[in-house]
Amino acid sequence: MITRSPALLQRHDEAEPLAPPPAWQAQLAGAIRDPAELCRRLGLDAAWRPGAEAGHALFEVRVPEAFLSRMRPGDPHDPLLRQVLPLGEETLPAPGFVADPLEEAAHTPARGLIHKYAGRVLLIASPACAVNCRYCFRRHFPYGDNAPSRAQWESSLDHLRHDPTIIEAILSGGDPLAASDRQLAWLVERLDAIPHLRRLRIHTRLPVVIPDRIDGGLLDWLGKTRLQKVIVLHINHAQEIDDAVIDACARLKTAGATLLNQSVLLRGVNDSVDALAALSERLFEAGVLPYYLHVLDPVAGAAHFDVPDDQARELVAGLREVLPGFLVPRLVREIPGEGSKTPL
Ligand SMILES: *Cc1c(COP(=O)(O)O)cnc(C)c1O
Ligand code: SF4
Repeated sequence: MITRSPALLQRHDEAEPLAPPPAWQAQLAGAIRDPAELCRRLGLDAAWRPGAEAGHALFEVRVPEAFLSRMRPGDPHDPLLRQVLPLGEETLPAPGFVADPLEEAAHTPARGLIHKYAGRVLLIASPACAVNCRYCFRRHFPYGDNAPSRAQWESSLDHLRHDPTIIEAILSGGDPLAASDRQLAWLVERLDAIPHLRRLRIHTRLPVVIPDRIDGGLLDWLGKTRLQKVIVLHINHAQEIDDAVIDACARLKTAGATLLNQSVLLRGVNDSVDALAALSERLFEAGVLPYYLHVLDPVAGAAHFDVPDDQARELVAGLREVLPGFLVPRLVREIPGEGSKTPL
């Protein structure tokens, strides 16, 4: 079982004095991790239990209360629940669905760093996530091996310092905002000091699943850096965007961040023109522009989410008929070895 324990996050903070933990950390620690409790809280029929237990044995359940509160009780097809509820299907083998579909293991010159694309380097800033998404392409990723210590960070930073072609640092994970503000402030201060770096990009689901994560501590380091800031949220359905998420987005904007969104096209969650159009409209209400619509990476255990390419293209063609161009996301696939995401 993959365990993305918040305990790993303590590593950089070991020698630091005790301060009251911010509210979001308590919410993170209090996330539901028991499949039986998830079923009970949503009022699901007992028939869902065995599948939930079987999937959980492969990739543990993790659902914060703030995300759970946006689900409709008693509805096993709720689009938010579908993203986090383990199903028996996860245990079935599916041809072509593998453990490391993006072959990331081959592109890691320093621990916690992936340099595949020109000008951009991805740093695994935190191995932990606030929510475990069943379709995640990293559900089998060796997170334990990629939780960098400060010494390992220095080696990643050296890679950036010595390559002037890198102009954008992308914090990823896991979820980079699962790291503490102390850690992130430390890292961003060092990135800030690399003269050829221009942009700081953060790929995160935390402002969505725990909107309280966007607190004063975060806005402090984010607002300070000279780097241009792009925050790529990860929202798959309009129902994820409640008032608290809209407020969190507004706070991120006060720190000068440009907000984009990426989604994954998921059968049973957002595989209709109506659902995707409502998502784009709702994103724009929150001040966020749609960026990518990813087709599912063929990761073992997620085959039941797959939407065929032809249907994906039809859905995006349908979106073009009902939305302004700036609300139509780019439909892409990630192909190992390619120098960019590949349009479908
Ligand atoms: C997706 C990705 C990026 C960013 O790609 P953009 O097309 O610029 O959004 C960078 N590095 C890696 C390893 C990626 O997977
Ligand atoms: S938040 Fe992102 S990295 Fe974490 S489980 Fe979900 S999809 Fe995967």
